[in-house]
This record gives sequence, structure tokens and C-alpha cells, in this order.
Amino acid sequence: MLTLWIPASHPRRESLLIREKLVDGFKRGLVVPEGLIAHGRGECFDYLIGESTQPFAIRAIEAAVAALLLAKHPVISVNGNTAALVPRDIVELAREVNAKIEVNLFHRTREREEAIAKWLKEHGAVEVLGVGEDASATIPELFSERRRVSPRGILVADVVLVPLEDGDRTEALRKMGKTVIAIDLNPLSRTARAATITIVDNVVRSLPLMVVKAREMKNLDKSRLEEILRNYNNNSTLQEALKYMLSRLKELSESKLTLFWEEK
Ligand code: ATP
Ligand code: MG
Repeated sequence: MLTLWIPASHPRRESLLIREKLVDGFKRGLVVPEGLIAHGRGECFDYLIGESTQPFAIRAIEAAVAALLLAKHPVISVNGNTAALVPRDIVELAREVNAKIEVNLFHRTREREEAIAKWLKEHGAVEVLGVGEDASATIPELFSERRRVSPRGILVADVVLVPLEDGDRTEALRKMGKTVIAIDLNPLSRTARAATITIVDNVVRSLPLMVVKAREMKNLDKSRLEEILRNYNNNSTLQEALKYMLSRLKELSESKLTLFWEEK
């Protein structure tokens, strides 16, 4: 239950509602305190791109959907923040592209795995991998609980969507030869730089858009999907994201910023 009342005209309304969802997720045992801090890092970059989905993100979304539709074993990896923010969109995207859903946590506990799986099932998921004994396989080069994955999910996946992933794990998945799709507002993070396709956008905007795109694109020929994927360049995406931030900051730095009429 969300409790915060925010006037419709409040300039940070959307952002405050997202925070409230995370706090709610925290109270439900889905989100850890570290997740709340990670969100703050993302919010900062969202400010810089004007809190809206930019063309470089749309191109990455199209490439990502093409990769998911072409995949033999696509998997959507879900952590606490993603589950708290976009549970229904995860389920819908999985349905559209025929992907498995796997709980994959940086701070793994049995309680949290189960809470997230239950939450996703309440939002329509039929099967959720990576819970308890199911997470019995390991990703090489990673230590402790972070390396556990499902032998029916991430271990055998050819394409993995990792909204809000950590850099080490993204690198490890790439080294295993997987196509990794990341959603990360920070184009400079290791995740953003190590992924095959990086969607530099807020997960609350990009996942719903992926569902819409998947519905449109699943009627395309295989050769057209392959062409979209071939023409995609992740380095250009990251450069464009940075250039966009730069030009926006330049424009802002040359305009009037103060809010009060007394100030000149
Ligand atoms: P990396 O490990 O990839 O180098 P990091 O250590 O800087 O990244 P982490 O704390 O591991 O950051 O992960 C948080 C990442 O998730 C940040 O890069 C942040 O931009 C991103 N992030 C947080 N919330 C969102 C969100 N709602 N949508 C998209 N990205 C987000
Ligand atoms: Mg990190």
C-alpha cells in the first residue's frame, strides 16, 4: 500500500512515487537498504537526461527486443528493485518474448528469493526460477552467493536481460559468451560498458516500452530482426547518452536557473 500523497502539480511527483514504491518493496522484504542507495545513483543520472526516454534508449530497446525474440533461451533476471518497481511489466515481457524469469540477487537470502517469487506470481508469473535449491549452478569467476544461478535459467541462457545489474556479474555473464542486455541510467558504470546492449533509461519507463515494442516486433521477419541487431552499436549508444547529457548541461548552464522573482 502506497501511503504518500503528492499533489499532481508537484515537479518531482513521478520520482517521489517511484521512491515510495521502493520503500514499500523494502517493507515487504523485496528490496534491501543497498538497493535504496543504488536507486539514488540512478536518479541522479535520470535528472541529467531530463527524466525521459531518449532516442539512444529507444534504439537500444529495439535491439534488445530483437535479441530477445531471436534468442533460443532468453532469461529475464530479476533483483529486488526491479521486482518492486515493475513486476507486471516483467511478467508481460517474459510472456511476449517467451523468456524465463529468474530471481538473481546480489544480497541473496532464502526469504528474499521467496518474497520476490511470490510477489511476481501475484503479478501473473507462472514460473519463477532461481529460488532455493533451484539456484544450484554457479557462474565462474564470481564468489559467494552472488554466483548462484538456475541450471534451467541463466546458466543455459543465450540472452539475459539484467535490469539494474552489478558490473562484476555483467562481465562474468559476457565471459560465458552470453548476450547481456542491461538497463542502467549511468552510461559510465561497468555494467553499462560491459553489456552487449545498454538501455540508458529508467527501468520504470523502459520495461513498459519493451513490452510495447515486443508486441510490435514479434511480427517481423527473422532476417529483419537480425538486421536490427547487426546495425546496433553499444559504444555509440553510450557516447550518445553522454553527449546528450553534455549538451543538455551546456544549454542549462547558459540559461536562467534561479527560481525566485527577486533575484536578478
Ligand atoms: P557497476 O557495478 O555497474 O560499475 P555501480 O557500482 O556504479 O555500477 P551499483 O550500485 O552496482 O552501481 O548499481 C546501481 C546501478 O543501477 C547504477 O549504475 C544506477 O545508475 C542504476 N540504477 C538504479 N536505479 C535505476 C533505475 N530505476 N533505472 C535504471 N537504472 C538504475
Ligand atoms: Mg557495482
